[in-house]
Amino acid sequence: MAHSAFGFQSISSPALSNDDIALIESSVEQFGAPLLLLDCDIIRQQYRALKNALPGVTLHYALKPLPHPVVVRTLLAEGASFDLATSGEVDLVAQESVPAELTIHTHPIKRDADIRDALAYGCNVFVVDNLNELAKFKVYSEEVELLVRLSFRNSEAFADLSKKFGCSPEQALTIIETAQAWNIRIKGLSFHVGSQTTNPHKYVEAIHTCHRVMQQVVEMGLPALSTLDIGGGFPVNYTQQVMPIDEFCAPINQALNALPDTVHVLAEPGRFICAPAVTSVASVMGQAEREGQIWYYLDDGIYGSFSGLMFDDAKYPLVTIKQGGELLPSVLSGPTCDSVDVIAENIMLPKLENGDLVIGRTMGAYTSATATDFNFFKRAQTIALNEQVENSERLIG
Ligand SMILES: *Cc1c(COP(=O)(O)O)cnc(C)c1O
Repeated sequence: MAHSAFGFQSISSPALSNDDIALIESSVEQFGAPLLLLDCDIIRQQYRALKNALPGVTLHYALKPLPHPVVVRTLLAEGASFDLATSGEVDLVAQESVPAELTIHTHPIKRDADIRDALAYGCNVFVVDNLNELAKFKVYSEEVELLVRLSFRNSEAFADLSKKFGCSPEQALTIIETAQAWNIRIKGLSFHVGSQTTNPHKYVEAIHTCHRVMQQVVEMGLPALSTLDIGGGFPVNYTQQVMPIDEFCAPINQALNALPDTVHVLAEPGRFICAPAVTSVASVMGQAEREGQIWYYLDDGIYGSFSGLMFDDAKYPLVTIKQGGELLPSVLSGPTCDSVDVIAENIMLPKLENGDLVIGRTMGAYTSATATDFNFFKRAQTIALNEQVENSERLIG
């Protein structure tokens, strides 16, 4: 699947600017390759763009796609909230002094220790999607507020997160009724329409269904729900262009406007915030001609930063620094001794020398997070850029 990802279309990425090239080359000179260049200005830009596109919605950055301390710090300074799923993520935000009130814990299936760790930190909003999970909160009923996660299947997304998690509207009502009987507070509903969802109407349908469930809750004489969490899934440009975020969110806002004013809306964006912020830099370790193609063996691959080719379905725009000359049918391979470790086959590239650099764009989400040290090839080092906001920018706010 990953192997024919780029077809014969050559490398379809906008050319690098001279400034980009200078920065990449000086970074490799200083730190070696492979590298991941994390630009905090793009984290800020993405957060602000989504904030603008979803006015009144509290954005909880989901740590899962890029759980890097610099990202947490940058977003905290922007006024973001956070979405946690594991005790490791709790530790990370705690280390960065994120106030616990800014966090929610959204893993639908938890061990008692996971709940206790989050509570000890001060996070008291959790997600359930079944009665077995609800029962785990009987002993914490004084402290917690829960969201009930609904399932909306989406075969088009990179990851359909509603196969593994979420319940039907009928099951949600049963959970809410049972919680009332057990004196557990239900704060609201949540869903995740699937990661890299390119059709905003998936959100619109889910919001309509949740709205109906909220009305039924009131009709049943249960306490009105105060929160709707519309999850993550907001799309970014890889080799395929997606709708600009304002246009994407317009129908979502329209659906949200129909909710009662008392309902507070949250979202849990992950990919949208971090994917465009990272550029990968790998260098050619060696090369060989095999069956009419030149195989370039890079120092990063499927078991490293390009793990998303396996786990995430993403097709990253790739570009070589060397441009011009004859284009030759080529293969970009990862460094390990495993045959599956191929990044792209049948692509047209200029003739590269050992040491030449291959750049990957939109490499921030589900890349380094799922990388391994297989075969003892060390993961790419992440270098943070523009960590400090320029003084002038800070003054303007
Ligand atoms: C992974 C995940 C997210 C982030 O999803 P993106 O598609 O990266 O925006 C948000 N919420 C939950 C519960 C998740 O599991």
